[in-house]
Amino acid sequence: MRLSIIGSGYVGLVTGCCLARFCRKVIFVDIDENKVRKINSKEAPFYETGLDELIKEVGNKIEATTDIEYAVLNSDASFICVGTPQGLLGEADLRYVYEATRSIAEAIKGKDYHLIVVKSTVPPGTTRYKILPILEEHSGKRFPKDFGLIMNPEFLREGNAIEDFLKPDRIVIGYEDEKSREIIEEIYKGIRAPRVYVDFTTAEMIKYASNAFLAVKISFINEIGNICKLLGIDVYKVAEGMGLDRRIGKEYLRAGIGFGGSCFPKDLKALISKAREVFYTPLILNAALEVNEMQPYKLVEIAEKRLGSLNKRNVTVLGLAFKPGTDDIREAPSIKIVKALLDKGAKVFVYDPKAMENFKRIFKNEVTYCKDAKDAVSKSDVIFIVTEWDEFKNPELYKDKIVFDGRRIDEARIFSKHYEGVCW
Ligand code: NAD
Repeated sequence: MRLSIIGSGYVGLVTGCCLARFCRKVIFVDIDENKVRKINSKEAPFYETGLDELIKEVGNKIEATTDIEYAVLNSDASFICVGTPQGLLGEADLRYVYEATRSIAEAIKGKDYHLIVVKSTVPPGTTRYKILPILEEHSGKRFPKDFGLIMNPEFLREGNAIEDFLKPDRIVIGYEDEKSREIIEEIYKGIRAPRVYVDFTTAEMIKYASNAFLAVKISFINEIGNICKLLGIDVYKVAEGMGLDRRIGKEYLRAGIGFGGSCFPKDLKALISKAREVFYTPLILNAALEVNEMQPYKLVEIAEKRLGSLNKRNVTVLGLAFKPGTDDIREAPSIKIVKALLDKGAKVFVYDPKAMENFKRIFKNEVTYCKDAKDAVSKSDVIFIVTEWDEFKNPELYKDKIVFDGRRIDEARIFSKHYEGVCW
């Protein structure tokens, strides 16, 4: 099987490189020439754990191009993996999906049969009522006779993306004809995981409902944490006691400064927006979002309560990525925290092992970028822990320091002079 991957970001590149292990050829497409160049020189254009090594491993089976027609004509199936960012009113902005779909449709005009797989996260109804009509209209072909279509949402987590892709908890396959289903099975035959077969729209909703559930779980434990802090109870002990209950489970019960990243915030907002379209007000989803909006600021409030004014105070921020293992800072709590510290007049020193280049696009000269964690903590006696990178689990960093921790790093809790967690 030969695949083309339209959109070579976190999901597309990981998907293509993992599937290259089981396929004959993978052609990556992106509108970003820099990404294309990097992939062709067998380098990951962004940081994701293990990705550089994987690209080199599958190097002789992959190529990248900006030419979508070439990619489609030289492959048997195309995966749509372009971004679906947040629109102005919280809805999913689908313009990249539609653009990619139109280009694929134009390209398949000259082909016998092609399978299109929608992997981008799109609101319920998009594949059936938007993507399918665009494909038919712009190709002049008919589904399912002339081309196949599958809605196959992705559940990988950045930072753990390769492992998640190769060992998923399940593969959800939204299908509406047998031939498409047989081909997607062939593509995934190297991956052992339970399959969930549903129609397009259900597959789309499974993705949104899963992300919404996890986001609610995080906001839930953060809210419990906020209450625990006021009552003098350790929320991590509470979570341990809760998590052993199989009905609850221990995952996503780490209280902290809230979720960020390219998925949870935007997907939650897109689902809220979809619900509004059908005149439903989703109370729980709105509340999860509200708790999450406020959570990063709590760390700054706690510091102010302890230290008084932060004006002219040196503060070190350890960690900028929205989570360890990635350089992604989209919707990262670090952005709100650094902005709040600057607004309060603090002099801010930052360090992250992977995400500083991305952060410089938002804060250029307003903060000082440090060369490593040791350098960063040497600049001030006040430390904010914002991302739980392994290298921050070093007792040496915290001796004689006042630490405000958003991620529960035990070494800081035990070895610092003064320690306070955001909700513990
Ligand atoms: P991303 O922004 O990292 O990558 C998208 C890529 O698509 C970019 O490189 C962009 O240049 C490219 N692109 C845009 N329009 C194009 C076009 N017409 N032709 C070719 N390339 C084009 O996005 P991502 O994080 O990989 O997310 C992709 C999709 O997967 C989104 O819908 C997202 O919600 C979903 N998703 C993301 C994750 C995650 O952890 N990042 C997990 C599961 C699902």
